[in-house]
Amino acid sequence: MTSLRLLVFWNRCRMCGHEFRTVSDSANGGFRVLLSTQSHLPALVDCSNDPAFTEVSRLVAEELPPATPLARQLDVFDYAFGKICDLAPDGSNYEMTGTTRCLRCGSDAVSFGPTEPAEYSTEELPRVTHTRWDNLMPDQKRKTISQLIQHL
Ligand SMILES: [Zn+2]
Repeated sequence: MTSLRLLVFWNRCRMCGHEFRTVSDSANGGFRVLLSTQSHLPALVDCSNDPAFTEVSRLVAEELPPATPLARQLDVFDYAFGKICDLAPDGSNYEMTGTTRCLRCGSDAVSFGPTEPAEYSTEELPRVTHTRWDNLMPDQKRKTISQLIQHL
């Protein structure tokens, strides 16, 4: 567990009006925060020390067409990395794309932003694990990333 002080975001669903709070998933001292899709449970990835982070980044770059814009590569990476992580304790995938779904109606049409004045929440965060991914052979890893890209 790692203790981090995170910015609190307000969220408002544009479909049903539900309001809720989450912690920001922005980069924080070399860490990024992932939120589970089911109940917004946060977890950390240590970007520079997690081998899977580097592997997925390389495979995404190799599997996308050569002229893919960098912004698109980064979006695909965020999507793919969330998918290769083991499921959160609530049984759902982690998400690193910044898309936060409404817990009431499931819509992803959610407006959000930092609270004003800024509020912080100190949270004890687990690291994401990716045991399933770690046990794949190199060609299976490549195939996994290729398939994720095709489903985008
Ligand atoms: Zn909603």
